[in-house]
Amino acid sequence: MPASPSTGTPGEQPKHLKPGDDAMPGTPGTGEDLCEDCGGTGIRKDGSECPTCEGTGRVIHGIGGG
Ligand SMILES: [Zn+2]
Repeated sequence: MPASPSTGTPGEQPKHLKPGDDAMPGTPGTGEDLCEDCGGTGIRKDGSECPTCEGTGRVIHGIGGG
């Protein structure tokens, strides 16, 4: 089988913003919060994956100010 030069590192966090994120995870002044659209379950009322948090149930929100 062909060798893959880069397959990614298992366990590495994906570096992208979800629709419900205010900023990248780890950004100063922000923190993880429950997704308001699904109440932190990651599943919407119709049983589908919540697009706001991409099924994680958590989004990044700015802390204070606003
Ligand atoms: Zn959600």
